[in-house]
This record gives sequence, C-alpha cells and structure tokens, in this order.
Amino acid sequence: MDRRGFIGSAATSLALAGCASLPREALAPSAACLPRVTVAESRVIRRVAGLRPYRRAGFVVRTEALGTKRLVHNYGHGGSGITLSWGTSRLAADLGLAGSEGPVAVLGAGIMGLSTARLAQERGRKVTIYTAALPPETTSNIAGGQIKPALLYRGDAVDDAWRAQFAAALEYSWRRFQIMIGDDYGVRWVPTYQEGSGPARMPDNLVHAGQVDIPVDRSPFAGRAVRRFETMYVETGRYLRRMTQDVLTAGGAIEVRAFGSRAEIAGLPESVVFNCTGLGARELFGDDQLIPMRGQLAVLLPQPEIDYAYEFDDGYMFPRPDGLLLGGTYERGEERAETTPEAIARILAAHARINAAGCAS
Ligand SMILES: Cc1cc2nc3c(=O)[nH]c(=O)nc-3n(C[C@H](O)[C@H](O)[C@H](O)COP(=O)(O)OP(=O)(O)OC[C@H]3O[C@@H](n4cnc5c(N)ncnc54)[C@H](O)[C@@H]3O)c2cc1C
Repeated sequence: MDRRGFIGSAATSLALAGCASLPREALAPSAACLPRVTVAESRVIRRVAGLRPYRRAGFVVRTEALGTKRLVHNYGHGGSGITLSWGTSRLAADLGLAGSEGPVAVLGAGIMGLSTARLAQERGRKVTIYTAALPPETTSNIAGGQIKPALLYRGDAVDDAWRAQFAAALEYSWRRFQIMIGDDYGVRWVPTYQEGSGPARMPDNLVHAGQVDIPVDRSPFAGRAVRRFETMYVETGRYLRRMTQDVLTAGGAIEVRAFGSRAEIAGLPESVVFNCTGLGARELFGDDQLIPMRGQLAVLLPQPEIDYAYEFDDGYMFPRPDGLLLGGTYERGEERAETTPEAIARILAAHARINAAGCAS
C-alpha cells in the first residue's frame, strides 16, 4: 500500500483532464536522468515513527453543543493532515466564529491547532491553545510534508456533504500554502515521480504544470513507467516552529495541559472550543472510528543535488534541507509510535533497490 492508498475516488472526481495523451515533447527534458539517493545505513541520521489519525469516513469537521459552549471538531486527517490543514481549519473557523464573540480555546498544538488558532486570530479573536504536547513532540512533526491527499478515507464510507468539505478544504490549503513558499516557512515546490497510473493521482486542477506520463523507455527509473507532477512540500519542523511563533506574536497564549474528559473542557473560560487533538480525540471524545496508522521513516543525510521526490509502491522519498525522508510503512492499528529495526531495514533495502537502477538512456 502506498501513499495513494485509502484515498477513495474524490481526488479523481476533482480531476479536470487526463494526461495520458500528452505529446512526447511535453515531457520534461531532465526526465531521462536524475541524481541518485545514496542509501546506506551509515547515512541514516534519524529513525522516526508517528501514528496517523485515520478514519475510514474521513476527517471530522462539525460542531456540537457542550453545555453552553460551542465545540467545533477538526480532527481525523489520516495521512493528509499537513495537506488539508489550512482548509479544514478554515471550515472549522467558519463554524466556530460565525455568530459568536470573545476569546476562543483551541485544544492541540499540532498543525490543525496552530492553523485554526491563526485563522481565529486573523478574524480578530483572542486565542489560547491548550495542549498536552507542543512541537516538536507532535505527530505533525513526524509528517513528510507532501501536499497531496493520501490515506484519508474510503470512498464507500463518505457522503456528498463530506466530499464537498474535502474539495473546499483542499482548494483553500492549496492556495494558502502557495503564499508561504520560501525558506521562512520551509515550503517548496518539488517535481515528483509517481508509479505508473492510478485513480488517485494528484487532482489536475491542483497541479501547477499539469501531469505528464513518462513511458518506461524514457523513465528515469529503470523498469518503471512514471507520472511526473509538481507539488509543494513542507519542512514540518521549521514550519511548525514558525507557526507557533506566529500564534504568540499575534497575542496568543499557549498552556500545556492534558484533558481527560468533556467535563474538564466544559470548565474552560472560553465559550468556543476547537477540538484539534488528532488521535487524542479517540479517547477524549470516544470516537471509535479513529485508528492509528503507524508510519516509520529513515532520514538520511541531506543531498542538496536531490531536487525531486518519488513515491512508488515500494517506498517514497521526499527531499528536505533537514534530510532525505525515506518511507514508508502503513501499519493499521499499531499503537506504539516507535520504529522497529526490521521495518527500517526493509525501508533501506527497498530504497537501495530503487536507487541502484541506472537511467533509462
Ligand atoms: C510517517 C508519517 C508521514 C506523514 N506524511 C504526511 C504527508 O506527507 N502529508 C500530509 O499531509 N500528512 C502526512 N502525515 C499525516 C499528518 O502527520 C497528520 O495527519 C497530522 O499531523 C495530524 O495533525 P493534528 O494536528 O490533527 O494532530 P497532532 O499533530 O497529533 O496534534 C494533536 C495535538 O493535540 C494534543 N492533544 C491530544 N490529546 C490531547 C488531550 N487529551 N488534551 C490536550 N491536548 C491533547 C497533542 O498534544 C498535540 O499537540 C504523515 C504522518 C506520518 C505519521
């Protein structure tokens, strides 16, 4: 299962046009040969694991009453939390702020909590973030940071209303990340190679220069037909650090506090509360549909010449200034956010094979 798995069919329905019939001249001139990742145990600088908050029915953005308070949920983003952060947080902010006034509370300081906090501040609200853990101790810090929906939902478990939320969220995130490009936030455009063709490719309306199918005889990856597209990548550590600073600079407060029950939340002074607790929502709000989907990564020493990403069935590589991220595993129901030597060895072996193959030409 690769990052395309579990996506369902909405990404396909967002697509505006196919790409299989593009003329050969349209292929990127640099496609024939690419510098290779040097995969070796001695180059591993970090081994990390995180638990994606996966729900087969997709993320939850909705409001409910908690005593006299308005509680707005924004959690359950699976492998797409970075991708959808601005978008679902805007949907949540719309629900929470309309017709209300005064300070708001945000539970959680992962990417959802920080994005929701910033959007509330942009609308003039005073924000306090209450959180059990701060970056870098969040799942969001582990994420590879590719802006592309993946591991998000099952097509047979969502309805049209959810699909409409998904489309609106993706569209807003896509626009918002573009105005954050650069070293400041660590957001970058990177050409990406995906294995063959499949139903869950990047929606064409969200791809800067269209998608191009490269046949096996012109592919930079021996023996693989690939699809090339451009998308954005977020260096999550840098980004979350900067977002935390932005919240504080705008007058926000952050309080480290873990909540164990709805009653504790009901005791907060704010009348609007945003629930951005990720996998934590399973226990805190009793959402049994939430399950952890563990992902393990081996991070290699940076190679500045690697200016492309790939995501194949046997592994993905995202290049970042803080290291080359080699994934990936998708371990459903695994509760421990820990790496295993076996999985890391498998990841390294798979990427060694991918990078051993020479150029097609
Ligand atoms: C290996 C891996 C690779 C990934 N790659 C990508 C990718 O390339 N692109 C992408 O879009 N997504 C990716 N993801 C998914 C992404 O990391 C998640 O969807 C995202 O981090 C979820 O963000 P969040 O803010 O909801 O949760 P979190 O980051 O987990 O934040 C939750 C916050 O809530 C707090 N909290 C929890 N419970 C409580 C409580 N009871 N009381 C108080 N506070 C509480 C926590 O302390 C934390 O601050 C990846 C994930 C993994 C593991």
